[in-house]
Amino acid sequence: MALKKELLDILVCPLCMTHVQLTPDEKGLKCPACRRVYPINLKDNFPVMLPEEARIEDE
Ligand SMILES: [Zn+2]
Repeated sequence: MALKKELLDILVCPLCMTHVQLTPDEKGLKCPACRRVYPINLKDNFPVMLPEEARIEDE
């Protein structure tokens, strides 16, 4: 897995402060509360936690 678990544990959605979860394809972080998916910068393996970069996933 690309991202360290310790990093995942502290990452929260900047909009609603909910802990985000790694998407199944490990290319994004999903907020279960507002359903935004934040992309992971694959070059740096670092999540981009900007609301304007996030897409909203319908379920
Ligand atoms: Zn959120």
